[in-house]
Amino acid sequence: MGMNLIQKATTKLRERFAARGLVLMYHRISEPGLDPWGLSVSPDHFVEQLEVIKKYFYPLGMQEFLRHLQRGRVPNRSIVVTFDDGYVDNLHHAKPLLERSDVPATIFIVTEAIVKGQNFWWDQLEWALLQPGMLPDCLELRLNGSRNEWQLGDARRYSQQDRRKDRQRRPWDARPGTRLAFFYLIWQRLQKLSKLERLEALDMIRAWAGVSHHARPQDRVLSKDEINVLAEGGLIELGAHTISHPSLQVLSASQQMEEISGSKAQLENIIGHPVKNFSYPHGEYSMETIGLVKRAGFEGASTTNFRCVLPGADPFQLPRFQIDDWSGEEFLRRLARWYVAT
Ligand SMILES: [Zn+2]
Repeated sequence: MGMNLIQKATTKLRERFAARGLVLMYHRISEPGLDPWGLSVSPDHFVEQLEVIKKYFYPLGMQEFLRHLQRGRVPNRSIVVTFDDGYVDNLHHAKPLLERSDVPATIFIVTEAIVKGQNFWWDQLEWALLQPGMLPDCLELRLNGSRNEWQLGDARRYSQQDRRKDRQRRPWDARPGTRLAFFYLIWQRLQKLSKLERLEALDMIRAWAGVSHHARPQDRVLSKDEINVLAEGGLIELGAHTISHPSLQVLSASQQMEEISGSKAQLENIIGHPVKNFSYPHGEYSMETIGLVKRAGFEGASTTNFRCVLPGADPFQLPRFQIDDWSGEEFLRRLARWYVAT
């Protein structure tokens, strides 16, 4: 019993002082008028964050980092930069800045949007529902054969000012009865639908709101050609992030496999060489999912578990920290806190 306690304390101490690394998760380097999910870091802030990484940390590419991990090591203060989804600003804003500071990155691509040249469904929904202006009184949707109805009330109106205020607000914090709260209700409903039902629902919503098919051009995803330009120069590695960005753990094993190895095959088809890394959409996975990712031939997979990487970490459950639109100073403060506390 006493021995056990001492062993526990020793392990804790060893962990406390072990070398550790951090994997960072970005999505977009841009300044959209509205960013309900907090996916964007401004180019200016990204420059400051890269300066902090260069000055205080040791940036590594994912493959090199995994090679260290396989040997049971994590270089102290190592940082791996990753991006999820595959927005076009990764090429136009992120790549030149990464190159200027010589920081490698891995970009995880959702392949269906790229193959079909579409915007992501959550951006299409934002385009339809969060433009300043009036919407009709009531939204009626037939989903899974059942009728759904939402009365908008005050949410019918949405001014430029409302939208500006929503810049700082997350949808789950929206005041009930507001347009942002309405958007979140519909997002939650659509999130649970199958791919096909969601497409139908988006068509109905667009027609109801009277908006065109296309979302903002700056919200678009990379094209096939742009993906190849992104990978030129060797500083950026590409990884897979499923075909359609579902929550994997609620799908059957065969549906999961289709999403996981299907996105690997589609991406390899575009870039012409093996894709070795994966990231779980929404950070959601089960033990079954991990097995499928291994079977599909990946060498590592990134989660959104909020921790540092310690020696002995599972390469198929790499923790990551989501980075917000912070100044360099704030970014350093956060990294330092995570570094000692996690
Ligand atoms: Zn994602």
